Amino acid sequence: MAKYDYDLFVIGAGSGGVRAARLAAMSGAKVAVAEEHRVGGTCVIRGCVPKKFMVYASEFAHHFKTAKGYGWTIEGASFDWPAFIAEKDKEIARLSGIYVRNLQNAGAELVHGKARLVDAHTVEVDGKGRVTADKILIATGGRPWMPKDVVGIEHAISSNEAFQLPALPKRVVIAGGGYIAVEFAGIFNGLGVETTLVHRGPNILRGFDDDVRAHVAEEMEKRGVKVRLGSQITEIAKGEGGLTVCCTDRHSLEADVVLFALGREPYVEGLGLETAGVKLSDTGAVIVDDHSRTNVDNIWAVGDVTDRINLTPVAIREGAAFAQTEFYGNPTTFDHDTVASAVFSQPPIGSVGLSEADARHKYGKVDIYLTRFRPMKYAFMHGDERCLMKLVVDAATDRVVGCHIVGPDGPEMIQMAAIAIKMGSTKAQWDATCAVHPTLAEELVTLREKYVPPGLGQAA
Ligand code: FAD
Repeated sequence: MAKYDYDLFVIGAGSGGVRAARLAAMSGAKVAVAEEHRVGGTCVIRGCVPKKFMVYASEFAHHFKTAKGYGWTIEGASFDWPAFIAEKDKEIARLSGIYVRNLQNAGAELVHGKARLVDAHTVEVDGKGRVTADKILIATGGRPWMPKDVVGIEHAISSNEAFQLPALPKRVVIAGGGYIAVEFAGIFNGLGVETTLVHRGPNILRGFDDDVRAHVAEEMEKRGVKVRLGSQITEIAKGEGGLTVCCTDRHSLEADVVLFALGREPYVEGLGLETAGVKLSDTGAVIVDDHSRTNVDNIWAVGDVTDRINLTPVAIREGAAFAQTEFYGNPTTFDHDTVASAVFSQPPIGSVGLSEADARHKYGKVDIYLTRFRPMKYAFMHGDERCLMKLVVDAATDRVVGCHIVGPDGPEMIQMAAIAIKMGSTKAQWDATCAVHPTLAEELVTLREKYVPPGLGQAA
């Protein structure tokens, strides 16, 4: 008789948990996955996927403007929020269904309900009782962090609710400067909502290259988003005409919806990690080693709950590496270095490798190649919209260590650039690559002149 009910019990059927469970089950292991909400997790239900649909929906306003320049007349264009939400929900349900089927086809058992650890080998699922497992994988993801010291915070929503608003607001105030805040600002603005972004820092998108940060903020403002930096929301009051938002810069704003996107936290509440002896970091993330193993021998954790790089493809790769190691006898770790990412802001960003500041810190002497220009597609728009491309090169080895793109298709281009950078390619090799013309991407292989940032002079 088997010592445990399952070989593997996974808590959380999101990006990381589903990939690990499927692969483990396909190896012949007896696997169960608990999910308290809907299968697919943040990415499918209230993250990447619905967010991208919203971005697509909101970009049409800009497309219409571009089309006008090309001679089109677009009369009577209007947007139907409930119709869009219904279509979006249909597609999300379809995708969630595919995840369920994939788990079932692999032979994994799905258990609906909130799971918690009772000890290192025992899991209790709400309403389903207790089971035991040889190995346990924590893949519970993250959740929006909401500040407790803002008066009237109960009137604000998080990104979770933004996907289900009953009606499109007329005025929205968004708190935050991270990628989720910036993406929602572009979405609402594109859909015709009066949009204000309030961020306490000196610029949005901390962690990205400084030229990218400044460029995106400027372009967002050109498109109509009001970006208020160095300010924080202190109070939200509900009145008959909507919400009044008070900020530290003594300004007050009127809004129908206030969206807080100040960050996310690992979702470990009520998981019983302490009873199993699993250690957490100061920020509440599950501490793991390179193989995603916790301090408890038979418990692993992958994805956002470990707060390494909080992106879907990373959670998937961590889950896959765990399954390879533990169920296929193939010890595998995921390399967290040089992970490309996109921000679906308007204009969007594709970024991989080091920012200029980080590269200077790491390598000392770096060469910068930077261009800003008007995308050809916008030639007839008579606006001054610009895209930006920047390469960061380690001067000693000529290796390209960072590539940053702001502009149409930046997220698509960066995937290819990421391959070249991951391979350790040199600027000379980029230069030797023949351009594809006429494209935006050709700039990446035709940048010849070194850029000297203002203030750095020749010593840079
Ligand atoms: P999740 O996908 O969050 O899955 C965890 C699952 O565990 C959830 O389904 C949850 O219900 C379940 N769960 C939690 N606790 C329990 C419990 N005790 N019992 C049972 N079930 C439980 N990433 C990108 O790469 N690209 C993007 O464009 C992007 N956009 C995003 C936009 C938004 C608005 C948000 C919020 C996130 C976005 N992300 C994006 C991040 C991405 O969604 C996450 O990195 C990814 O989903 C993490 O996967 P995970 O498996 O760690 O956790």
